[in-house]
Amino acid sequence: MNTDQEVAEQLALFSDYLKRNSLKMTRQREVIVDSFLRTNGHLSIDELHQLVKQKDSTVGFTTVFRTLKALTDCGLARETDLQDGRTRFEHIYNRPHHHHIVCVACNRTIEFLSPELEQLQELIVAKYQFESVRHQLQIFGVCPDCQNQRPSPQDVFDSDAVFARDALKIAMEAERSGLNFYLAAAEHISHPSGKATFLRIAEEEKKHLHDLEYEWIELLKKDKNILKAPVFLHFDYESLKKIFPTRDEIRKRLEGDLDEEQALRLAMEMELESHRFFRDYAEKFNDTRGKAIFLKFAAEEEDHYRTIQKEYDRVMQRSVH
Ligand SMILES: [Zn+2]
Ligand SMILES: [Zn+2]
Ligand SMILES: [Zn+2]
Repeated sequence: MNTDQEVAEQLALFSDYLKRNSLKMTRQREVIVDSFLRTNGHLSIDELHQLVKQKDSTVGFTTVFRTLKALTDCGLARETDLQDGRTRFEHIYNRPHHHHIVCVACNRTIEFLSPELEQLQELIVAKYQFESVRHQLQIFGVCPDCQNQRPSPQDVFDSDAVFARDALKIAMEAERSGLNFYLAAAEHISHPSGKATFLRIAEEEKKHLHDLEYEWIELLKKDKNILKAPVFLHFDYESLKKIFPTRDEIRKRLEGDLDEEQALRLAMEMELESHRFFRDYAEKFNDTRGKAIFLKFAAEEEDHYRTIQKEYDRVMQRSVH
């Protein structure tokens, strides 16, 4: 959902756009844009018209239609064809890029993003030496409720918040895996300074995890319904298992009395792999926000890597002298 500030920003952008096209921001246009930006989902002109009429009964259907067209030209909205015979619009300013799965029976719409799918599309486009400008992907099907002749809920979720929820989940899972590793590793390493390094990084991971959990609670405070929203950002959690060894694996690998140097090297490898994984993952996003979330995470992992490397260098130097 757009905050007051975001609505104000977009109104200013729209006002500039109108000026460039020798048009004026009228009171009616403002009411239409404001109503549109404060409503989630894929609104038909008629639905928006109904909303606007509650605030200003003099606004006509054509004005709503023209304003939406202008908003689209200005880059603040996009037309979305859900093949239900209506022209629908959604706002796109600062919103994550996404695709739609639409139920042909009840029109329920699920929004989703798969960074892997985005990357695959880019590869295919590059093969034809095209530079992609925009793309849409709509999948039409029958939802499980309609398949079973049950009434289907028509919940409309705020995809911004759902995106944040999913990204947080991924980050928390990675932090938990890292934390588990350092706690288990600290248990298995007997050298005091190596143990201290692992415990220190475990503390850092704990702090990161706390911060994320705090964000999570704040998100739920705003809308606890958000937990019911379908997955937006698709992520292969199995890939985390390849980076962070499980507790059993750690035990197995560290059982053979790994010395401090080997344990530190194992941790360095893991942090580097995690850093690369999230950096590459961030690259798959074509919107800046998704990129930013995961690049920040990649940077934290790089920090950990450096911390361990410092300790490793110290240990190596000690053994040389
Ligand atoms: Zn349905
Ligand atoms: Zn959408
Ligand atoms: Zn896409």
